[in-house]
Amino acid sequence: MDRISRQRRSWNMARIPSKGSRPEMRVRRLLYSMGFRYRLHRMDLPGRPDIVFATKRKIVQVHGCYWHGHGCARDHKPTSSEAYWSEKIAKNRTRDERSMKLLSELGWDVLVVWECEIDRIDQLRLRLRDFLSQASQSAWTIS
Ligand SMILES: [Zn+2]
Repeated sequence: MDRISRQRRSWNMARIPSKGSRPEMRVRRLLYSMGFRYRLHRMDLPGRPDIVFATKRKIVQVHGCYWHGHGCARDHKPTSSEAYWSEKIAKNRTRDERSMKLLSELGWDVLVVWECEIDRIDQLRLRLRDFLSQASQSAWTIS
């Protein structure tokens, strides 16, 4: 039996950041089932946004509550190495803000979906539909 408790291990696993993370996959599946098509992780855009609707000039970002410091019930803080993680999360938040600002300067509308919102799927579906069916506020920038 190794020293890491099962609970601790699942905590570690849940915090491994990756592309195509579970919350993001769920939002992608939802969007797909709603008939929307998108591109993923456009390298040429600030912060490599998760889900990109190029012709609508809209972006959906899926944020894990822990990694992006949502401060909700899902955003549990570990008891050990707290300073280390807080610093990492603070960096993520700064990066998020910078990417959002740059994207909006480039004429993109961005909707952030938090991990904890994905469980309320009906509400989320409405929000996504609203966001994606509105005319882009920056439509004039499309040449
Ligand atoms: Zn949250």
